[in-house]
Formats: sequence, C-alpha cells, structure tokens
Amino acid sequence: MKRVLVTGGAGFVGSHLCERLLNEGNQVLCIDNYFTGDKRNIVHLMDNHFFEVVRHDVTQPFFAEVDQIYNLACPASPIHYQYNPIKTVKTSVMGAINMLGLAKRIKATILQASTSEVYGDPEIHPQTESYWGHVNPIGIRSCYDEGKRCAETLFMDYHWQNQVDIKIIRIFNTYGPKMHPNDGRVVSNFIIQALQNKDITIYGSGLQTRSFQYVDDLLEGMTRMMNSPKGFIGPVNIGNPNEFTIKELADLMIELTGSKSKITYLPSPMDDPTQRQPNISLAKEKLNNWEPKIPLREGLVKTISYFDNLLKNNG
Ligand code: NAD
Ligand code: UDP
Repeated sequence: MKRVLVTGGAGFVGSHLCERLLNEGNQVLCIDNYFTGDKRNIVHLMDNHFFEVVRHDVTQPFFAEVDQIYNLACPASPIHYQYNPIKTVKTSVMGAINMLGLAKRIKATILQASTSEVYGDPEIHPQTESYWGHVNPIGIRSCYDEGKRCAETLFMDYHWQNQVDIKIIRIFNTYGPKMHPNDGRVVSNFIIQALQNKDITIYGSGLQTRSFQYVDDLLEGMTRMMNSPKGFIGPVNIGNPNEFTIKELADLMIELTGSKSKITYLPSPMDDPTQRQPNISLAKEKLNNWEPKIPLREGLVKTISYFDNLLKNNG
C-alpha cells in the first residue's frame, strides 16, 4: 500500500485518478482549492477510510509524508485558465516549486501533468518529445502554456540539482465523464449542445485538428509512468494519435446523439492551434507497450451518457 498525494484531485482527471489509486489498494490524499474541481466528483470516495481530502491552494507550501505525488492542480480549459491568468501562472510555477520542495524533503517520486500545449501551434506534425514548440509568450494562452513550460523546467532543475525523482507526461486533449459542463472545451460543449438540440458552435473553419484521448487511457499511461524505472523521467507524450477535424467531431456528435442541432461557425479564438497529434513511440517503448485502447466513438458514447444523466438530474 503506497501513500499517494494527488493535487487537483477533485478535478476531472484527478477525481478519476483518486478512484483508481484507491481501487488499486493505495492510501490517497487529495488536495484541491475547488477552483474548477467539485466535491461531487469525489463524494463517493469519502466513505473509504484510506481517502483524505484537504482544501488547500498549491501556491502555498504543504507538508505530508507520502511516497508518490501526482501534480495535477491547474485549471485546464481555456476559459478557466484565462479567467485569472496571473493566478494560472502562479498555480503552475509556485505549485511546482512547493510540490518539488516537498518531494525533495520526503524523497517522494513526483509526476507532473504537463500538456501538449508546450508545443504551442506546432510546426512539426505529429509532435515528438524532442520538439521544442512554437509558443506565443504574450498571447491569451500564454499563462497556461508558459506556466506549464516553466513547471517542466523546474522539474528538470530539481532533478539535476537536487536529484528529485521526477516524471513528466505531456497530456493531449482528454475527455470523459466528470468533465466540467461549463468549461467550454470542445467535447463537453458539443455534447451539451447536441443533447439540447442547440446550435453546435465551431470556432474558425472547423478544419483545425485535435487527437482525443479517453480518460481511462490517460490514467493507464499516467500510472505506468509513475511506476516506471527510476532512470526514465520523460517528458513523454500521453495521448491518442487518432486525429480528427473539429468538423468531423461535430458531425459524429450529431450522429451519436441523434440530435437535430445545426452547425454554426463562430470566429476562431486567438492563437488556436491548427493541428495536434501525439507521436507515442516513446510511451510505447518505455511504458510496457502502452497505447490507447478506447476509440473515439466508444468513449463519446460513455461521455454522452454521463452528460445526459447530468442534464436530466439538473432538470
Ligand atoms: P480540471 O480543471 O478539471 O482539474 C484541475 C483541478 O485543479 C481542479 O480540481 C481545480 O480545482 C484544482 N486547482 C486549480 N488550481 C488550484 C490551486 N491553485 N490549488 C489547488 N488546486 C487547484 O482539469 P483536468 O482536465 O482534470 O486537468 C488536470 C491536469 O491535467 C491539469 O494540470 C491540466 O493542465 C492537465 N492536462 C489536462 C488535459 C485535458 O485534456 N484534460 C490536457 C493536458 C493537460
Ligand atoms: N472549439 C470549437 N467549439 C467549441 C469549443 C472549442 O470549435 O465550442 C474548438 C477550439 O477552437 C479548438 C478545439 O475546438 O480549436 C479544441 O478546443 P478545446 O478548448 O477543447 O481544447 P484546446 O484548444 O485547449 O485543445
């Protein structure tokens, strides 16, 4: 039984991770400030005596004795991370410093939930870990992209300077049940619009691409990375290489929900990346042949069913 700390454990990915770690027989300590997380995501775990929750902001120091730290605390959707961009940078950078300082003191292994956003609007396709990225440092996405890039820098520096046992994963667009219904991300937006027979809002031409990963595939890659041999620190891409245009996603959503929604085109947001697809050769090689198992259709059906219930229960 390991003692595991999950920062951002009440969020979309974090709550699934807490559940999985508990099911695998670990003790889990979740810390969260509930900015984009929700107690309802973890309330079903509260009866488990091996689960603890602390309301805490990672920009402040934290101390606990644990064996592993998953550092997930950070708003992930553009409307949430752009709401208070200075706070977003603080969460990524000061959160990383606080958690790395803790890992150093207690000799824990620490995993950083980094992002495909470190590649910005990529000029090489698909993206490999050796690509340094094409990021605007002064745009509306910069608080997130540059915050995450600086966090990666801190992870590497704590590793080199203080021998902290680090792991870095770069997560590509992930979806699934428990996504925040109002976070503006494309999968949740399209599902809710389709279920309500409202216009499906495509920003820009709809020809921009993303590669969508179901949350269970992410958790498998993430936990394999955490438990991989000490010598492998990453960064490693964790994503589904199946690439779709946003228009294809909208069409699929209408088909799967049987919706009467029409598609409407709105202006593209600033610095919206035009394409994104992970090269996952490194993950396959280093993480025991890890690769995503859940095709988009199958994952969407599960996610649609989750949002359908949510909408019905909320009237
Ligand atoms: P989310 O917004 O649902 O979860 C983030 C959690 O962190 C929330 O519970 C939020 O309340 C908490 N949080 C935010 N600021 C905090 C602070 N200062 N102190 C303590 N807690 C704080 O997002 P998610 O999709 O679950 O993403 C989890 C992590 O994975 C994030 O670090 C994100 O950058 C990364 N990631 C996610 C995706 C994706 O597609 N979901 C892609 C790339 C990277
Ligand atoms: N998008 C869209 N309509 C929406 C929400 C998003 O067309 O209602 C587009 C968005 O402009 C981007 C893509 O879908 O090109 C993915 O957006 P999301 O915010 O989910 O993730 P990210 O841009 O961070 O990859």
